[in-house]
Amino acid sequence: MSVFAAQPFQGIATFGRVPHSQDYSGADVAIVGVPFDASVSYRSGTRFGPRAIREQSLLLWGYNNVLRVAPFQALKIVDLGDVDVVPVDIAATHRAIEAKIAPVVAAGCKVIALGGEHSISLPLLRAHAAKYGPLAVVHFDAHPDTWDEEYSGYKYSHGTPFRRAIEEGLIDTSAYLQIGIRGPTAGPQDYVDARNLGAKLITIDEAFTLGVEKLSAFIRETVGSRPVYVTLDIDAVDPAFAPGTGTPEVGGFSSYQMLQLVRGLNGLNCVGFDLVEVSPPFDGQQITAILGSNLVFEFLSLLALRK
Ligand code: MN
Ligand code: MN
Repeated sequence: MSVFAAQPFQGIATFGRVPHSQDYSGADVAIVGVPFDASVSYRSGTRFGPRAIREQSLLLWGYNNVLRVAPFQALKIVDLGDVDVVPVDIAATHRAIEAKIAPVVAAGCKVIALGGEHSISLPLLRAHAAKYGPLAVVHFDAHPDTWDEEYSGYKYSHGTPFRRAIEEGLIDTSAYLQIGIRGPTAGPQDYVDARNLGAKLITIDEAFTLGVEKLSAFIRETVGSRPVYVTLDIDAVDPAFAPGTGTPEVGGFSSYQMLQLVRGLNGLNCVGFDLVEVSPPFDGQQITAILGSNLVFEFLSLLALRK
């Protein structure tokens, strides 16, 4: 029976109605939720992100008419459920994420993580770098997330994961792109720091000047044939299109542009993906969760085309 034989408003929501299973042997892709929001710097709520994205994913009928592929048919996908997070303990949560994900990645199964806030990318990168070595990273975000400890007051938070990842040698900084960066900061140092750490920081103004097509070509050129980890903070998208998030910044990508940017990664050796910062308590009419589920669908389509 097709996983889409049921009506979209019927049944229990795994992502795309794939089987809920801890058995990823022989699977191409494992979906995992990380319902964690302890280190958000403004409004919390991303602990409800995975559930909301899964619920809206039931609307994905299965065939991608732009990329011309049916990822749920082309790939064997399982939904591992959620990581056992510890809401008051970021270190314990990060250990739990790495413990659950590392063996899956080591087995050659691609992981798609549904956040959760952006701190979860650090243990996810640890798990992926253990298999692939230092990774090219395509990072869509309004924020560089490379705060230092003195400035933010915390070593580990959703404002610091990529500084920590670079320090730990998880990222190949010759192919680390930050895309869509914008909004007021405390001073010019945020961008200076990110660039000094090695990030190719592309502001939203630069992105719009280039246009999606040239920007995508630049991303593909920079990454080349390296294994690449893609991390998508939903606040890269304008809050008019994605209001359900913890630290909204006006003046971002439209939902259509974000879809195009993910499709623009077609042909790259994508080894992992996370979609973070979807915060349902601020999400009127599930608009952000619908976008999130569609962005995951586009990423699954890329994996299906590579298979
Ligand atoms: Mn972020
Ligand atoms: Mn952000």
